[in-house]
Amino acid sequence: MDTYDVVNPRSGAVDHRFTAPAAAELDATLARLRAAQPAWAAAPLAHRIEVLARWRAEWIRRQPDIIDALTLDTGRHLISRTEVMGLPGNIDRWSRLAPTLAQEEEFRSAALPTISYRSQYVPYALVGAISPWNFPVALCFIDAIPALLAGCAVFVKPSEVTPRFAIPAMQSIAAVPELAAVFHVQPGGRETGERLVQSVDAVCFTGSVATGRKVAEAAARAFIPAFLELGGNDPLIVTASADLERATDVALRATCLATGQACQSLERVYVDRRVFAPFVERLVEKARRVEVNWPDIHAGTIGPFIFGKQADIVAAQLADARAKGARVLCGGEILDHGGKWLRPTVLVDVDHSMTVMTDETFGPVIPVMPFDTVDEAVALANEGVYGLSAGVIAGTLEEAEAIGRRLDAGGISLNDGSLTAMCHEMEKHSFKLSGLGGSRMGPGGYLRFFRRKSLIRQHGAPATLDSIDESLARS
Ligand code: NAD
Repeated sequence: MDTYDVVNPRSGAVDHRFTAPAAAELDATLARLRAAQPAWAAAPLAHRIEVLARWRAEWIRRQPDIIDALTLDTGRHLISRTEVMGLPGNIDRWSRLAPTLAQEEEFRSAALPTISYRSQYVPYALVGAISPWNFPVALCFIDAIPALLAGCAVFVKPSEVTPRFAIPAMQSIAAVPELAAVFHVQPGGRETGERLVQSVDAVCFTGSVATGRKVAEAAARAFIPAFLELGGNDPLIVTASADLERATDVALRATCLATGQACQSLERVYVDRRVFAPFVERLVEKARRVEVNWPDIHAGTIGPFIFGKQADIVAAQLADARAKGARVLCGGEILDHGGKWLRPTVLVDVDHSMTVMTDETFGPVIPVMPFDTVDEAVALANEGVYGLSAGVIAGTLEEAEAIGRRLDAGGISLNDGSLTAMCHEMEKHSFKLSGLGGSRMGPGGYLRFFRRKSLIRQHGAPATLDSIDESLARS
């Protein structure tokens, strides 16, 4: 049984402690969920929708407590509010969509006229979800809600870095006994995650590429599907025809929102050389006006690093870039007030020998590099191991789309950036190491929780073995 000391991201001090479930406790919880799942799946979808609607009401009742806990977890208030208040909309969206999907329609075979088919959608009995620290609430429930509606039982293991929100969140679930029978949220660390993967029928993992690989390997050994949503190093391309006011607004917002601690953050910016100087000038002017939310959490735009180690990774990337010739035009110094902050940091004279351009940064850092041709920009954007999302800003949407179609990533924002954080209706796949295993968004985000069974109906006489009598070939 592991006890974790949890650091407050604003003060840098340990102010919370929790104990991860011991192996026997985890096993007992999973057995309880598994035992309740058949009745949950056998009930009509309308029942599951109604149970989630009751949970939605309990969630709304407890929103102030959940927001307070999440604010302590993340050191930011407004985004915590948005995350917590976004959950009812998430339940509503899936509750509207689910009844239109997984229809068990019958259709006739074109090849064999006496045969018809019917599909049965069989949910995975027990789904494990493992979530990261950067958007603790949104990413805790993002896969659980469609999985529950599909008829699965779900155990979510939030990150050990941000466990406080799980206490009031679990109270909201406990207030709806039918839901608590099949849904459990309990923070833990690596060992809990490892044991979970060995014990479930499908796993949804959101986190880093390094851990995602381990989860995929463990899932392969357990012979279960793994849905992996991993890191990114998203590029933004700005063409000569782009409106620079728009382009700099997008570059600043989509790199710095949530202190850059978002998988779909823009992490590197390529700008046509003809507009490079005015772009950088405007960007720096805007970046210098941005304040961190310290000492007052209710003022400023940039929160602390939620995980102190992330500040060290960002500092190491900045040191590497400086050593290789990059110039820091603003920001660039980690502010240590116990917790750690960084102002928007614009870098120029960067290239792909620097980790700030090739690795995930997860901080409010904006390296800007010029290009001479669109082909060069596309090649630069497509370099590297990640393929989560990307952005293109051009004079027209058509010009932006022509470039976006050539980018190796699953969500391309045209004349904006990081739109996949706001738009959940479209299906998208991660490219390269940014993920594996089907779309989390759109209809696929629900359908992936079912195995599809074919019920093949014979309306005529079955074939006999005589049908392959060799003598038939003579006639
Ligand atoms: P992480 O990989 O360190 O941890 C993620 C989760 O995995 C945590 O709950 C952790 O306890 C658990 N874990 C650790 N070792 C494990 C193991 N061996 N087996 C099972 N579980 C294990 O990631 P993080 O630092 O918490 O999160 C940041 C990363 O998440 C970034 O790379 C970010 O890009 C990525 N992310 C991706 C998306 C997406 O949708 N693609 C969304 C948000 C964050």
